[in-house]
Order: sequence, then C-alpha cells, then structure tokens
Amino acid sequence: MEEMFQRAAGDLVNSKYAIALTGAGMSTESGIPDFRGPDGIWTKNPEAERKSYDAYYELLHDPKAHWEEILTPGSFFNLFENIGKALPNPGHHALAELEGMGILKFVITQNVDGLHRRAGSQNLIEYHGGLGRLRCMSCGLRFDREEFDLEGLKRENQLPPRCKSCNGVLKHDGVYFREPIPGDVYNLSLEAASKCDVMLVCGTSAVVYPFAELPRVARQRRAETERKAEAGIHVAERIPAVTIIEVNAEPTPLTGEGISDYLIRGKTGEVLPKIVEEVRKIRQ
Ligand code: NAD
Repeated sequence: MEEMFQRAAGDLVNSKYAIALTGAGMSTESGIPDFRGPDGIWTKNPEAERKSYDAYYELLHDPKAHWEEILTPGSFFNLFENIGKALPNPGHHALAELEGMGILKFVITQNVDGLHRRAGSQNLIEYHGGLGRLRCMSCGLRFDREEFDLEGLKRENQLPPRCKSCNGVLKHDGVYFREPIPGDVYNLSLEAASKCDVMLVCGTSAVVYPFAELPRVARQRRAETERKAEAGIHVAERIPAVTIIEVNAEPTPLTGEGISDYLIRGKTGEVLPKIVEEVRKIRQ
C-alpha cells in the first residue's frame, strides 16, 4: 500500500494541472451516508432511490407539498438535519492542503454538503450545488438558507419560500436528478477535465451523469494523444496525457473499464492524508 501512496504523491508532484473529482464517499467519514456504498441510503432503502428520481417533478408539480416533505423530520428529503451538523474529515483537509501547496488547481465535487469549503478548498466547483443555499427557479438568484425561517413558513402555511427579488418559487440549491446542471458549472468542469494532467477521483461510484463523463473526457484525450504520438505527430506539449487515480472503498466502472490508471482501495479519510504525507517527503 505504501508504494501506492508514493506513486500517487509522485504523480501529483510532477503534475502541472492536477484536479480532484469527489463524491459522496468523501463525506461518509463525516457521518453523511452515501447512496450506493455498502451502508448507502439507497442500498438500505431502494424506495428512497425511486423517490429521488421523482423528486424534481414532484417539486415542479406541487412545490408546497414537496417543501413540507423536505421539512418533515425523518423524511429522506430532510437532508438539512444530518448535513448541518457534519464537520470536514481528514480527507477534505488533505485536498485543501494539496490546493494550498499549489498542486490541486480545482476540486470538483458532486457533494451538496459544503464540507470542502469548510475544510478550506477555495477553487471549488460544486457541480450539484449546495444545500446551504436556496435558488430561485425563475431568476436563478441564490440566497443563504439562514435568510429564511423555513420552519416558521411551514407553521404559518406559507410554503414554498419565495424569491426576495422576483417572488419566484425557491428550491434548495442542490441539483436534483433530471434537473439540468447550471451551464457555468458544467462548462468550467469540462474545461478543467479537458486540460488536467492528473485527475484524483475520490469516493464516487462514477455512475451519475453528466459528472461521470469528466474522467471519460480526460481519458479519451489521452487515447487521442497516444494515437497521434504513434503516428509520429508531436503532441506531448500541446495535449498532455492524463493520469487518473481513483481513491475508493471498492472498484467502480472507471476501474473495470480501464478509465482510471490505478485504484488505491481504502477510505478517503485515511488514504488522502497519507498521500499528502508522501508529497511533503518528496518536497522536503
Ligand atoms: P455514491 O453513493 O454513488 O458512491 C459512493 C462511492 O464511495 C461508493 O463507491 C462507495 O463504496 C465509496 N465510499 C463510501 N465511503 C467511502 C470512504 N470513506 N472512502 C472511500 N470510498 C468510499 O456517490 P456519488 O458517486 O457521489 O453519487 C451520489 C450522488 O448523490 C451525487 O450526485 C451526490 O451529489 C449525491 N449525494 C451527496 C452527498 C453529500 O453531499 N455528502 C451524500 C449522498 C449523496
């Protein structure tokens, strides 16, 4: 295992443009369950998976009823309960440290829990938004959740919350299944994936699209680079090859399809700090 940490540290130190992609597995050690891991919400409760796929249409169809469900204690959608109390774990801190060292240029996360930001990651793309904010479904304005007394609105039968600017219906800023990814976030992520030379993919089953495209986009570029190199065309400077490193508790489709170069199997909260430790040794 030690050699794997050293290998990843070497790849990161030698990179010019490394990025990290993260998923729900990053936050299980902070007490927030993932969806598809062995203790995942959907693994234990398949009905919750069906409900997740329907949530966006339920919101569009009846925002009041959907908000009432979100605010019902114990409901699957009462995500604020768990997430509000969670703290970043050593994995989040390790990625923030790699950014501080100038190695990681971006963290692109699927997580909606805000823990990367709380750990100090600054160049952060929250691909699926964040539950700490509310977003207007009409004008797109975002507000801090604290600006609204959601429980009070529920008691007074005033749900859904309304935009302070245009009176449109507010939803939380987390992106639902079947809801489009905001264009700015989508484009920025694609650009980063298209130019990175190291991609560290942490705690994701890599099956939720379009996020799961990102490693495939990077991998595809490497295949093109190799083909051009074989044909004698000099491309190494212009299109750098990419090394894709997975840190995950179990193999994923990226492992099986040969998209990733190697998998470091383990917990992100343990593996990532070890990699940072090796980076420090190389840089001494
Ligand atoms: P997923 O549940 O599909 O997969 C999580 C993966 O991480 C699994 O392969 C699991 O084995 C692995 N894993 C779990 N704990 C780990 C650990 N400590 N170390 C290493 N690996 C670990 O998650 P996903 O791919 O992110 O897709 C789920 C979707 O649901 C995402 O779009 C995300 O937005 C959302 N979600 C977010 C949160 C959150 O914000 N914390 C939590 C649940 C779901």
